[in-house]
Amino acid sequence: MSQSEFDIIERYFRDSVLCFEGRGIDLAIGDDCALLRIDENDQLAMSMDLLQEGVHFPVGAVPELLGQRALAVNLSDLAAAGAEPVCFTLGLSIPEACDDWLEAFSTGLRKVAARFNCPLVGGDLIRGSLQIAIQVQGRVPRGKALLRQGARQGHQVYVTGTLGDAAAALALFKSLDNAGQPTAANSPLLENRLAARHRDHFINRFYCPEPRVAVGIAVRGMASAAIDLSDGLLSDLGHIVKASGVGAQLDLAQLPLSEAMRECVVKKDRAHLALCGGDDYELCIIVPREHCVAVEEAVASLDTKLTLIGEIVTGQGVKCLDSSGKPVDVRQSGYRHFDEDDR
Ligand code: ADP
Ligand code: MG
Repeated sequence: MSQSEFDIIERYFRDSVLCFEGRGIDLAIGDDCALLRIDENDQLAMSMDLLQEGVHFPVGAVPELLGQRALAVNLSDLAAAGAEPVCFTLGLSIPEACDDWLEAFSTGLRKVAARFNCPLVGGDLIRGSLQIAIQVQGRVPRGKALLRQGARQGHQVYVTGTLGDAAAALALFKSLDNAGQPTAANSPLLENRLAARHRDHFINRFYCPEPRVAVGIAVRGMASAAIDLSDGLLSDLGHIVKASGVGAQLDLAQLPLSEAMRECVVKKDRAHLALCGGDDYELCIIVPREHCVAVEEAVASLDTKLTLIGEIVTGQGVKCLDSSGKPVDVRQSGYRHFDEDDR
């Protein structure tokens, strides 16, 4: 039987002998960030993500964009916790020391580090296949971090931005050969010829996800739970409902889709990309009704799109309803590294 990454973590790593209670550890495995007590007022939020060429980004990806993406996806976990970035470390495995590649890659890192005030403080460098591991550290007022647990019946489900664009980019990459030309087996997802601006939109959404750090900080104290969308809405919201002991109901007609998605992706595939496609790095935010107006105003003041897409209900799992309220069966999974059909 195949094991998902979550099964492996539970079976081999998340046990009391390995994850014993250390000094100052307030929260360990299971959320977007671990939380460590710094002092009476603050906690340190920590998270790491590992990116491998050919798995998380296409072979031959533009190095500057890769540098941006590598740091951005890590900052997204701080955003999900409502933490303010402090610093990061970089573990880098590269096949060769190519100056042009390194200059471009570090330029990408520099851009994101400067924008989010998150300096590099250490790391490790080896020769090997191209892999990038980044660990980010952030600061959050003690007890105020947004967690996956905390969603209760009647709370409202919101997402930032638009969904499915990064998954459309991956479909696009698969439909191009190494020279960027369409292959004979063009992507079945994408209708007609893509307008250049739509193509750029999708590719930009994949390489330059926008970590919603300011949003996470703004909704602290009002939202009851949050997660960033790395594996796909169904999978990631699934973590929230599981951790919170509740279910969720989504209104498919409300899923926020970009203009590019509406114009280029065949209708029947849009909801699937938006629900199951990973790599969007938007936030899914759960809000008690009494805080909805304040949350909507706070996020609007940051010029960020926020869409109400559903509600927390009793029970378990995430159910999807069409515009007439009829349940729709959408494959309940995000990207899983160890599932058989992903190998
Ligand atoms: P995210 O998508 O937010 O980065 P993941 O789904 O990768 O989170 O991981 C879920 C949880 O499992 C997180 O709390 C993460 O820290 C933890 N985790 C992931 N891989 C490992 C590992 N190899 N050892 C211990 N904990 C892990
Ligand atoms: Mg996350």
